[in-house]
Amino acid sequence: MTRLALATRGVQMRFGSFLANDDVTLEVPVGERRVLIGPNGAGKSTLFNVLAGQLRPTAGSVELLGQDVTRLPAHRRARMGLARTFQLNNLFTDLTVRQNVEITLASQSRSRVVFWRDLASVPGIRARSDALLDTWEFTDLADLPVSELAYGQQRVMEIVLAMSTEPQVLLLDEPTAGLAPADAHRLTRLVSELPREITIIMIEHDMDVAFALADRVTVLHQGSVLADDLPERVAVDRSVLQIYLGDATDA
Ligand code: ADP
Ligand code: MG
Repeated sequence: MTRLALATRGVQMRFGSFLANDDVTLEVPVGERRVLIGPNGAGKSTLFNVLAGQLRPTAGSVELLGQDVTRLPAHRRARMGLARTFQLNNLFTDLTVRQNVEITLASQSRSRVVFWRDLASVPGIRARSDALLDTWEFTDLADLPVSELAYGQQRVMEIVLAMSTEPQVLLLDEPTAGLAPADAHRLTRLVSELPREITIIMIEHDMDVAFALADRVTVLHQGSVLADDLPERVAVDRSVLQIYLGDATDA
């Protein structure tokens, strides 16, 4: 039996009378790269909020690594091995790259770090931040304030911070949005080079990126799953083509 990293059963997320997610059932096996696509407003980010615990679904359930987490808050899911990025930047922009990484590392250690000035007192923290910055090709930028990074570098930083929690399951919400093609390409390469045992679910608007990275693609449309299949099959699915070509302004 395949071990599942994440699964949802009949997830519904209702805001008033509006169903942002409706009867969403998904199964993502451990180690899979799953890409979630769909027009703006399809409910993709909402589904991430339900998966990560920012939102509790109004019906249905969520399982993380075989455990029902529907009622667990986000920080408990994070401790079980789930990490996510948000669609918009979520960084301490006045602090340096290294300080951002070390704060995230320290927040998971048992040491008490009250101010960022105390970070150096956390055992092993410098070695771990060095290793992370090296993997993500950030060593030369370590001492720059995040505010001085290019936008594309800030997006990569978000992933570095998510990875610093050593997650088993990583949720990426449109990591290449707003990036120049060269930066998008670099980021996609870094994501594709992550250890294969890490399960990745990524929302992506760029079809080339989506189909290059995905083992499997799920298409959301008006809150529901329209298709869930191999990339090469989704690429020629008539109902999928229709929602993308039918309203070109909506993709
Ligand atoms: P996507 O990420 O696919 O573009 P979202 O999940 O962000 O779509 O949004 C889906 C729909 O749900 C949108 O119409 C959005 O306005 C609505 N929505 C999202 N969050 C809320 C909320 N907290 N309250 C009310 N409506 C919301
Ligand atoms: Mg979104």
